[in-house]
Amino acid sequence: MSVKAGSNQKVRRVRDEGVYWLGDTPVYLTRKNVRNLRLRIDVRGEFHLSIPWRAPMSLARDFLHEQSAWIARQQERFSRRQATQPQLVDGETVAWWGQDIPLKIVENPHPRARAVAEVGAGAIVLNVPVGAPLEKRQRALDKLRKTSLEIRLAPVLAKWAAVFETEPGAVRIRRMKSRWGSCNPRTRALTFNLELSAKDPKYLDYVVAHEFTHYFHPNHGPEFHALLSAKLPQERQLHRALNRRKRTA
Ligand SMILES: [Zn+2]
Repeated sequence: MSVKAGSNQKVRRVRDEGVYWLGDTPVYLTRKNVRNLRLRIDVRGEFHLSIPWRAPMSLARDFLHEQSAWIARQQERFSRRQATQPQLVDGETVAWWGQDIPLKIVENPHPRARAVAEVGAGAIVLNVPVGAPLEKRQRALDKLRKTSLEIRLAPVLAKWAAVFETEPGAVRIRRMKSRWGSCNPRTRALTFNLELSAKDPKYLDYVVAHEFTHYFHPNHGPEFHALLSAKLPQERQLHRALNRRKRTA
C-alpha cells in the first residue's frame, strides 16, 4: 500500500485518474449516485471514496485530508489484524495434519501462470505467479487442503459407516467459520471443514463419528452422547482437544 518513491507516485497518479494519494496512501475515487461523500476501507485494506456526481473534486480532497486521522487509525487496525493472520509468505509455517510445516514460495515469472500448491520434501510448496496476492496463494493452498482431506476422509467415512451400519450421504468440504463438520439428517448430507487438514488426522475419526451420530440423534442430548461414546469412548476428550486451539492457515 505504501509507495515511497515520489516519481512512482506521479506515474500512478497520471495513469489512474481515479486514485488520489493522501501522502503514501492511495484512495480510490468513484463518482456514484450518492448523496454524501462516503469513505470506506475494503477487505484488502484499500480505501475507497464515493463522490456524488455534482460534488467538485476539491470537496473530495478536503474531505480526505479531514479524515486523515481516521484513515491512519483504520490502517493501524488493518495491519494489526494482518499480523495475526497467516500471510502465506516464504518460510512461514502452516499447520498440516497436526504438524507445523514450512511454506516454500516458488514464484513463476509468468504473471498468468497457474497457482498450485503441493506437498514437497518437508515443506508445502506454493508455485505462484510472481507477485500473486494473498487470496491467490490462499486459494492454491485451500485446493491442496481440499484434495488432501478428500483422500484422508474416504477410508474414515467407510470405516465409520460400517461401525454405525449406515451409508453416508453427499460429502462436501468447505471452509466453515465455527464448526468442524455438520450433518443434515434429512438429506444425509455431510459437510466437513477444510481446516481439518490442519489438525491431527485422529480428529477425523471424531468428527466423522460425531456427524454419523446425528443420523440417529439430531441434537446433542444425552442419547447422542450415549451412542457416540459407545462407538468412540474418547469422544469427549477428542472434542475438547480439537477445540482447544483453533489454528488456521
Ligand atoms: Zn453435532
